[in-house]
Amino acid sequence: MIAKKKILVVEDNTLNRMLLCQILANDYDVVEAENGKQALEILEQEGERISLILLDIVMPVMDGYTFLSIVKASPSYSLIPVIVTTQSDSELDEVAALSHGAADFVAKPYRPQIILHRVASIIHLRETAAMINLIQYDSLTGLYSKAFFYQRVKETLLQRPDQEFDIICSDIVNFKLINDIFGVPAGDRILCGIADLYLTHSGSRAICCRFNADQFACLLERRWEYTDEMFQQACAEISALPHAKNVVMKWGIYHVENRNIPVEQMCDRAILAARTIKGQYGKYFAKYDDNLRNKLLWEQTVTNNMDAALQEKQFEIYLQPKFRIKDNRLAGAEALVRWKHPEWGMQSPAQFIPLFERNGFITKLDQYVWDRACEVLQDWDRKGYPPIAVSVNVSRADIYNADLEDILQRTIKKYELPPARLHLEITESAYTETPKQIVDVVGHLRELGFIIEMDDFGAGYSSLNMLNEMPVDILKLDMKFIQSETAKPANQGILRFIISLARWMSLSVVAEGVETQEQLERLRAIGCDFAQGYYIGKPMPVKDFEVLLQQSPPPLDCGEESLHRAQERQNQILLLVDEDAGYRNEVRKALGDRFQIVEAADGRTALASIAVYDRRIAAAVLSMTLPEESGFEVLEALQREKAFCRIPTVATGPAGMQLEGKAFAAGADDFAAKPHLQTSLLKRIQHVIYASAFEEEMPDAAPDGCGLLGGQNS
Ligand code: C2E
Ligand code: CA
Ligand code: CA
Repeated sequence: MIAKKKILVVEDNTLNRMLLCQILANDYDVVEAENGKQALEILEQEGERISLILLDIVMPVMDGYTFLSIVKASPSYSLIPVIVTTQSDSELDEVAALSHGAADFVAKPYRPQIILHRVASIIHLRETAAMINLIQYDSLTGLYSKAFFYQRVKETLLQRPDQEFDIICSDIVNFKLINDIFGVPAGDRILCGIADLYLTHSGSRAICCRFNADQFACLLERRWEYTDEMFQQACAEISALPHAKNVVMKWGIYHVENRNIPVEQMCDRAILAARTIKGQYGKYFAKYDDNLRNKLLWEQTVTNNMDAALQEKQFEIYLQPKFRIKDNRLAGAEALVRWKHPEWGMQSPAQFIPLFERNGFITKLDQYVWDRACEVLQDWDRKGYPPIAVSVNVSRADIYNADLEDILQRTIKKYELPPARLHLEITESAYTETPKQIVDVVGHLRELGFIIEMDDFGAGYSSLNMLNEMPVDILKLDMKFIQSETAKPANQGILRFIISLARWMSLSVVAEGVETQEQLERLRAIGCDFAQGYYIGKPMPVKDFEVLLQQSPPPLDCGEESLHRAQERQNQILLLVDEDAGYRNEVRKALGDRFQIVEAADGRTALASIAVYDRRIAAAVLSMTLPEESGFEVLEALQREKAFCRIPTVATGPAGMQLEGKAFAAGADDFAAKPHLQTSLLKRIQHVIYASAFEEEMPDAAPDGCGLLGGQNS
């Protein structure tokens, strides 16, 4: 319920006062004062909650004009509109009242309609026209706009010096994702739902606004200690909104101690507090306190030092070895930056990388790391060591850098290296946040010959379906994922599935954070390609790494590794069974670089090919209108074969011949009606491969129920 607006009636005559109260009581909350002095005392308590003052002029103790002058001179009350009441309809009185700052004027005897009308219109005027320069409401949510909120908070803090207040700001962690998946209108509806919740819960004791896109701010009287339960409850209500099931909201609280800092800064502090718990599950709010203040001061110091540190070469790269699991050969290294500060000592990247990602310095630092890594590679080449590859980290900010491609190419040219010597590790979350841009930028880098590794795969919002479209060569499984998956019994979990899917898609897999012999054995057993982790080798200075390079067995040459991968890709066969040579030609042209295509014009040849190529066949495209032996018979034969070799099959045929239903009945996994686009055929092929890899590894689970990996079907 909306609280009634409050009106202060200042009138010495009891009868008149009662009359006024009676007129107003239905629509307003009325407070009464007998004279100016009493009215000032009330104002001090009620402050800006008074929407309007009805003021008699002739009164004992302090008359109306004196009171009016004081009110209009006070910064806290001057905005409260005053309507003066006088005995007569005299023009002189009116002029006097208005010249003292009254907003309007009513004559006695009181006529209820006129009083109510004037009061309503003056309050309305003050709330809208008086704020002519401020756009008061946020057009989407109907909450206050940021500018108006600042104004209101400033006034309130001034007017109520004895009341304690908190600024509470909320931030939706993954709002962009929600917009991407469900669309902007759905995102907008969620924001409106949240705004409604703010209004219903905070009531009249709070001032709320939409602070930024998905951030809300609220000034609240301090009444209690905040608990996680309170915010958890709010989160539950937000989750109940349509499409909001996965909304993650974090709150930050700034207890207003210093009223002299700008309101904007108070909100910033609350938001900063909220950010500190961004990735922490089960943590709903954080307060801005001394710890956080010290952290921010520390960050400021780091920010002041970083440029000089780069110039003075305080940053160094450490290399962590990567091994090929099947033969224990050294297969590469990841370059990880370290900061050796002359006073603070060795700083680990976890301490400064997140800050550099926020303040933008990461792009400079990354370029330095890439340069150093290439310099090291060239040095090794000159020393005659086997040409292994080094992986470097590429931040999200680097992807937005329009010069990225130039910079990388210049760097490898400077050190006379082929691009495949440099692997670029791009974190999985970057792929989910800016899919289009990433696909373009990374796709191009890949065309130039750089090897792309998707870093931290499995840590966040992985969608395996999405992998189809992503330019990637290597999946780098996140450390936490490896550790939790290898802790499960061998026949459970999705690790096997991911590895077999990677196999289907000709991606290599690196397991990160391997810490024990058992983990390594487990990875070996399920066919994971590479491993990196403390069990095998910690990040080490370049000099120490060189010792590894000279040990036996000899390191895996980067060219050898690429060749192996290319062979694997070549090894994947698409069996194309179709009576129409023209059609086969079209498909070969479109998909020939993805698969080795084995063609058959009739069922018998097709079955013979299956016998020859056996498990190397990744999928089959099978016409339902084959001449002699029909496609259905081939399908049936495939079904029988499935006991030992299940070939995912896309059936094809002209639309409208009821072939589709028959094909499914005979065991096809999908049907492509002719004529079709080659891209749509490719999508169907990838989809059946995906589904069958899943079934093979997880016979008990349905593909769309796979939690972590159950991303949106693109
Ligand atoms: P990351 O790219 O996922 O790197 C792997 C991190 O895991 C490294 O931490 C590595 O030392 C650590 N690690 C490796 N094996 C194990 C293990 O078996 N157990 C455990 N507990 N940890 C292991 P580090 O060097 O502290 O780097 C942390 C993160 O900082 C990196 O995570 C990466 O995101 C970032 N980073 C490091 N260097 C750079 C850089 O030059 N540029 C950018 N943009 N980010 C970097
Ligand atoms: Ca990495
Ligand atoms: Ca990683």
